[in-house]
Amino acid sequence: MSESQALPDRYVLTGCAVLAGDDLDYLEDGHVVVEGGTITAVGRGSGLADVERIELPGRTIVPAFLNGHTHLGDSSLKELGFGSPPGTNLLWHPDGLRFQHMQEMDRDDRVASMRNGVLQMISSGTVLFADFREGGADGVRELREASAGLPITPLIFGRLATNPVFSPDEFAANTASLPNEGVSEIEEILDVADGYSPVWANELTDPALSEAAQMSRDASKRLATHAGETPLYRSLSLGRTGHTDVERIAQHVHPDFVVHMTSATNADIDTTVDAGLPIIMCPRSQEGLGAGLPPMVAALRAGASVGFGTDNVMLTSPEVLAEAQYYLFASRGRTGDTAVVTADQLLRSLTIETARALGVEDTFGSITPGKGAHLVCFDMRHPNLKNSMDPVATIVSRATAGDIEATLYQGQVAAGVLPIEARP
Ligand SMILES: [Zn+2]
Repeated sequence: MSESQALPDRYVLTGCAVLAGDDLDYLEDGHVVVEGGTITAVGRGSGLADVERIELPGRTIVPAFLNGHTHLGDSSLKELGFGSPPGTNLLWHPDGLRFQHMQEMDRDDRVASMRNGVLQMISSGTVLFADFREGGADGVRELREASAGLPITPLIFGRLATNPVFSPDEFAANTASLPNEGVSEIEEILDVADGYSPVWANELTDPALSEAAQMSRDASKRLATHAGETPLYRSLSLGRTGHTDVERIAQHVHPDFVVHMTSATNADIDTTVDAGLPIIMCPRSQEGLGAGLPPMVAALRAGASVGFGTDNVMLTSPEVLAEAQYYLFASRGRTGDTAVVTADQLLRSLTIETARALGVEDTFGSITPGKGAHLVCFDMRHPNLKNSMDPVATIVSRATAGDIEATLYQGQVAAGVLPIEARP
């Protein structure tokens, strides 16, 4: 990576528009003061006079994005199986196309391809991502290595390398505990991961889900899982246990957040709201797989907190802004309602709502004093953004990574360059 531009310890970004606070208040002539990597003041006007000034006319400063769900493990398999007929096993362990290819690949190549995916996130305004890593503790170590030293915070969730750990009879009885080898593998994962993520409720019995979740909580680690993604999640769970996978996740796992809910019923959505489970949705991957558009508006109307993720790099680019852009247009097309979701809501879902889902809202997700200086500077003078009549709508509906002048992570330039004078 090339040497990035060094900013002073204490400075003010000024002369620019700022989307301030959790509610994204638009300050047309605003400033942001940064000290030691932390935001110390936000407001209108030019800000403090006694700190280094970085003049940014024509720019809009937005909170940097968080990517609530990735699988970087298949970064080297872009468009593998592209256009395969319905029913092709692309993703599922152990026979899915991506597992065959991930296993054949050299470890160093896999790590290098994941690092490439992380760099793509950084260059498109993302400062934190949550990955569900395959391959047990070793898989977690690979991604840790792939993101080492880069200006981004990885939250890496590990999973069991080998599934299933139960026989069909044991699944049908739904009484078996986690076997000893499962316990030791989860212990090993929790040693190196930020959290544990069963792939779905159907990978374990109810007692085993509870035990695995308790292990993660006892280790003060995070918990998350996929839920309600396809009709199979629900039908398999109902057939074995009489309860939907969403119900079982809420009752036996109670994760920090769930991912997808693409085929969730209104009752499933209510279950997550009642249980206080935020939802991360991945519109592009779900549409690409033919699973449909995630029910974001229904979830928001039910009172859920909804953030965005990009899912498998094999299926979609890890640029999370593109999720909001896709959803904006697709949701209008499906409903015929051009007011179905606001630009502010989509930007909050890219930032503060994902931060809340991931439990990092104290330091990420909005331009608020006390939080880390994680910022994206859009150059609104670019041909693509110039003459905007509604800056938030313009960013959410048409901005690209190419319109980002710089992304700041902990107050320093992670990607791009800011216009500061070179000092003698
Ligand atoms: Zn996933």
